[in-house]
Amino acid sequence: MENNETFENLVENAFCFLDKSLEEFAQHQPKYSAINFYAAIELFLKARLLHEDWKLILSDPNPISRKEFDQGNFVSVNLSKAHKCLKSMKQGLTNDEYKCFSELGNHRNRIVHFFHLDQFDSQEIQNIVAEQCLAWYYLHPILAKKWEDIFEKYKNQISKYNDKMQEQHQYRLTEKFGQLKSTIFGKKKAGIKFHKCPSCKREALEENGDELPVLKCKCLVCSLEINGVQITCTACNSQQKLIGQPEHQCTSSSCSSSFTDEDVKKILLAWHVVKQDDSDDGYEANCGECQGELSVALLPSGKWMCSSCFVQFEQDDINQCDCCNALTTETLRDSFWTGCEHCEGESRRLGDK
Ligand SMILES: [Zn+2]
Ligand SMILES: [Zn+2]
Ligand SMILES: [Zn+2]
Ligand SMILES: [Zn+2]
Repeated sequence: MENNETFENLVENAFCFLDKSLEEFAQHQPKYSAINFYAAIELFLKARLLHEDWKLILSDPNPISRKEFDQGNFVSVNLSKAHKCLKSMKQGLTNDEYKCFSELGNHRNRIVHFFHLDQFDSQEIQNIVAEQCLAWYYLHPILAKKWEDIFEKYKNQISKYNDKMQEQHQYRLTEKFGQLKSTIFGKKKAGIKFHKCPSCKREALEENGDELPVLKCKCLVCSLEINGVQITCTACNSQQKLIGQPEHQCTSSSCSSSFTDEDVKKILLAWHVVKQDDSDDGYEANCGECQGELSVALLPSGKWMCSSCFVQFEQDDINQCDCCNALTTETLRDSFWTGCEHCEGESRRLGDK
């Protein structure tokens, strides 16, 4: 079988599982919905690996023939192995994506390998919906943006599924949001700010501003955790809150300024009054989470933050590439030879000679 044909079969199969998962929700079978949704995630990741090389989806290192492979006589990689392999291809999942998918996987395992009460109470159903809502929030941009060229052919299918998923979550999460309304109301009264959650679209994203300019936010409905930054608009001097992403339009009625990740980085670095002749220590690093080039800035608190994906890092997370000397949040091994995400390393350079 041609590799391309196998790839298409895998992707079609992944979509089948997604559809099944939605149907089962409609039929009040959340247990099967959870199992099938997780199967779809694994299939999409495997399809991405297979696109690179079919051998990458084999769990066992012993070689098998392509014929045996086409007959399905093998054990394929699980989420953790797929993640490791994608990482080595510099296509890895971010920590948040991996965490979310593995939690879904753990839930699935409890259902399949152990037992799970057949009678789901409404709380459990809400949790499963919230879990899937969050997983789709992470999976959708992986398929539609990060791996856009590879899943190009399925653009419409992905977008259609996204619509169905949004509709389902709007409908299913109404009850959970309803139950939380009085809690949210009480917190708002106590001065806590809430934002619209980019995942479940409810105004349930609770802001914690204890570490300004970083705003740590957590959604009470779907459990999404993202960061924001509070910055001063340089045009009108108003305080602006950018949640989850740097692209932002100033909310002052009289101001037409907009922000990009470059602007955010400038503002973050300005917080940290950097005197370059003062020390040799770097204050910008490459981001291993979103692959941003020098997008991570050192904050006055001593922590680091990416101006592009807003992930925060500790000083210990910052490593230096022995080949190009760039700072990066990526874990490096033998970087003199293998390089980092932004350089090829010495081995490549010597090989090219
Ligand atoms: Zn949410
Ligand atoms: Zn402004
Ligand atoms: Zn980043
Ligand atoms: Zn490097």
